Amino acid sequence: MQYKPFNSDISLSTLGMGNMRLPVQRLGTKIDRTKAQEIIDYAMENGVNYYDTAYIYHFGESEKFLGEALKKYPRETYHLATKYYMMATKNYKKVFEEQLRRLQTNYIDFYLIHCVTDVTWKRYMNSGCIEYFLEQKEKGRIKYLGFSSHAGVTALSAFADYTKWDFAQIQLNYFDWFYGNTRKEYKALEERGLPIIVMEPVRGGKLASLNKEAEKLLKEAHPDWSIASWALRFVKSLPQVQVVLSGMSALSQIQDNVATFKEEGGLTEKDKEILLQACELFHGQFKVPCTACRYCCGECPKGIQIPDYLDIYNAYKAGELGALKRLEQVNSKGTPADCIGCGKCQNHCPQSIKIPGIMKELAQELRRA
Ligand code: SF4
Ligand code: SF4
Repeated sequence: MQYKPFNSDISLSTLGMGNMRLPVQRLGTKIDRTKAQEIIDYAMENGVNYYDTAYIYHFGESEKFLGEALKKYPRETYHLATKYYMMATKNYKKVFEEQLRRLQTNYIDFYLIHCVTDVTWKRYMNSGCIEYFLEQKEKGRIKYLGFSSHAGVTALSAFADYTKWDFAQIQLNYFDWFYGNTRKEYKALEERGLPIIVMEPVRGGKLASLNKEAEKLLKEAHPDWSIASWALRFVKSLPQVQVVLSGMSALSQIQDNVATFKEEGGLTEKDKEILLQACELFHGQFKVPCTACRYCCGECPKGIQIPDYLDIYNAYKAGELGALKRLEQVNSKGTPADCIGCGKCQNHCPQSIKIPGIMKELAQELRRA
């Protein structure tokens, strides 16, 4: 495993274990603890020392699971990261105490304000929560304070200047780097000297499997590299990046990721050119930029498994024959036809996806099919 010094006291593994997409028994329900424990054990055995979760992941089960899964390891051998999300509850003091209980610890190593967006950044600043978490840091109950952001570069910069943060977390992957605003966000954090924790390096798994033409190009260049490893190699080669989080839901994923992070270096300039060429071949697959974070699912009064439908929508828009047939196979309580257009999902979507409109379109397509 490769490590990078965070400061003069600690070094962090460049690969971090994300706990948002742990294996589940059935889609959207309970964590499969046996399989998830195997992943954590593999991570610990292979030197991963950064474990990221949040109050809302797996509807609160992720923190509880992680507290139990890491209990058998000495506390000083791993760093815990978790987050406070204002849109879930305003009572930050209660949340923080509950998180310590769930994680079975008396301090959090890396604590984050969760999901700063163009909508939430001022609300966080006016809520008093940042001052409260700074106090907890003074008391040693938080070691390092940071924030995770899906905001545009203006709000991100203003939030970064609000206090003296220790680090920041942003969505960073080659697709958003080439086609989105990520490069500017990276620069804003670099200028402020903030170490970057990367989320969504594989864009919610979407960069783990591309269309045939793009995969062929990448395989010809490096037959031994998995498609997902291209995405990880890209982000780990950026100097301001401290930890690359990967939300792993299968043992095979962590095995592949650990192998990638054993190697020094990332991509050469030639590799980056090939990657950009591959992007040109598949970027039509991303009509809707859903990362399958599932923040929207808990809000839907109709129990619609939104990201699973959006995945089909993307395939349909990219011209996949028979994509709409998969609509009926989705394991979901509600279907797009049940959507009442309440917009609750949209308020929680860090990617600002216009979900109700897409549900309406899918429902119409389903009726026509
Ligand atoms: S707009 Fe539709 S999909 Fe979104 S929360 Fe409301 S019912 Fe669910
Ligand atoms: S629609 Fe938005 S909130 Fe829902 S899973 Fe996709 S990215 Fe996440």
